[in-house]
Amino acid sequence: MSGTIEQGRHFKGPFTDECDVVVVGSGASGAAVAAVLAESGLKVIIVEEGPNVDYREHAKMRPTESMRAVWREGAFSASVGIGDNPVVNVTMGRAVGGSSTITGGVCFRTPEYVLNTWVKERHLPTLTPQNMERFFDQAEADSHVQLVPEHLRSRSTTLWDKGGSTFGASLKPTRRNITDCQGCAQCNFGCPEGRKWSVDRTYLPRALRAGARIISDCRVDNVTTSGGSATGVTGVLLNRDLKAGDTFTIRAKRVVLAAGAAHTPLLLMRSGIGKRSGQVGKNMTLHPSIRMTARFRDPVNGWQGAMQSAYTDAFEHDGVTLISVFVPPAAIMVGVPGFGPELMDRAAKFPHLAMFGGLIHDDAGGRVWKIPGREPLMTYHVARDTRPRFATALRKLAEGYIAAGAEELYLPVLGHPAVTPDEFRRLDVEKLPLRKWEVSSQHPMGTCRMGADAAHSVVNEWGQTWDVQNLTIVDGSTVPTSLGVNPQLTIMALALRFAEHLREQFARPTASAA
Ligand SMILES: Cc1cc2nc3c(=O)[nH]c(=O)nc-3n(C[C@H](O)[C@H](O)[C@H](O)COP(=O)(O)OP(=O)(O)OC[C@H]3O[C@@H](n4cnc5c(N)ncnc54)[C@H](O)[C@@H]3O)c2cc1C
Repeated sequence: MSGTIEQGRHFKGPFTDECDVVVVGSGASGAAVAAVLAESGLKVIIVEEGPNVDYREHAKMRPTESMRAVWREGAFSASVGIGDNPVVNVTMGRAVGGSSTITGGVCFRTPEYVLNTWVKERHLPTLTPQNMERFFDQAEADSHVQLVPEHLRSRSTTLWDKGGSTFGASLKPTRRNITDCQGCAQCNFGCPEGRKWSVDRTYLPRALRAGARIISDCRVDNVTTSGGSATGVTGVLLNRDLKAGDTFTIRAKRVVLAAGAAHTPLLLMRSGIGKRSGQVGKNMTLHPSIRMTARFRDPVNGWQGAMQSAYTDAFEHDGVTLISVFVPPAAIMVGVPGFGPELMDRAAKFPHLAMFGGLIHDDAGGRVWKIPGREPLMTYHVARDTRPRFATALRKLAEGYIAAGAEELYLPVLGHPAVTPDEFRRLDVEKLPLRKWEVSSQHPMGTCRMGADAAHSVVNEWGQTWDVQNLTIVDGSTVPTSLGVNPQLTIMALALRFAEHLREQFARPTASAA
């Protein structure tokens, strides 16, 4: 990133400014909207709570350092599960470039059947596959999306492919916003080779070149309104220790919220906006994800290859997508069962471990709540129709590695001992209590969902809030249902669409805001 991003932590004293559009959050959606609007000649200011960490500096960090510098709450944010529900580790980025800087790079278009659901069941008639196509094309071109070549598959991936092929689930290559990948499996912690085209390297430099102001270390605490219209934002400058310092005020003709699915609803609640719908913060989907580790007799050396190179949609209609993932060794070892000599023995066999992931297409069961302090409380209840999908994902993950010759499986279930293939076959997976499952989410969405009316949604199909004029939400919180696939391309494509609409509105200033 060029040096022209202003760092709020170095500001001396409060500041005020005014502009056509203030964008809150510089992640996948905010960056895309800012670039389009700045390039159309509008005066745009982007305010980002997190720090500005140059991608070259990020790439030098150890995973634990990256998590403290760029991930929200050091990657320890979680949704609380009440009753027989898992605690879900919900990770998010908190930096210039947002979560885009820490993705595995995987880019899926929204599946057509999901878009058709939005059109037919959510009454969003303009979100057809045909209408969305040019926005997907644009987001892919802007982000340098390309197929992962087969030679970049790790042995951890090819082993699952070998097993999955025996029951009709052979793998397809993923597409990623990564070019000339060297296959070191570090994508989530900044690409050491600088080959990942996250938005800090695509849309934000474009916005800067077009004259936008980008300011890091600025946490927006309130959207200001007057007479039912948004007029700007206020917030605080954060120093290095996240301590709130001086205040800032930005007056704007249009406020665009892109703070992500956990923080945009929090901001609305703090500003007292969105009460009419009663939907703010509700309907959160997570794409709960699990990982299966398997030990093979021969070395696998699973870290050699692209982290997320292949997937299968063979179980799409069971609500499960399986996707390769080989996270750094330290993160794998925390999930290996055993203590003392038993654990040391397993650690010595680390090169023999393979790992594959499962993502669950979930129904809305989560909620974001406002509580004292700077972070929201998240709760997540696995909806009834979603529950069997956990067992399906686990079974398929295990069956793939068993068919490929795995000797031992480490289940993502707390306290569960390692099992042999025979022991797994005898296991009643459906009876494993969900509260004990180790589940993570990188994809919170839906907390300010788009919809056809104010009774069931927070924004209309153009991201305009039902309650307040001149206030548009463009981030993952607007996505009406879970997708069943990784969401960054969907979020960027929707953001480009929202931006185009906003640009047209500025060109016709007398038109209605909705
Ligand atoms: C570890 C990880 C891996 C992922 N891998 C993939 C992948 O491979 N493929 C894929 O498709 N998706 C992936 N995702 C998901 C994807 O990154 C997100 O869905 C997407 O970036 C969300 O875009 P967004 O604009 O809604 O929010 P974000 O990109 O999260 O941006 C929100 C920004 O708003 C800022 N913000 C929040 N509150 C405030 C405030 N009050 N004031 C100012 N700024 C604020 C935040 O600090 C953040 O920078 C991954 C996510 C994570 C965390």
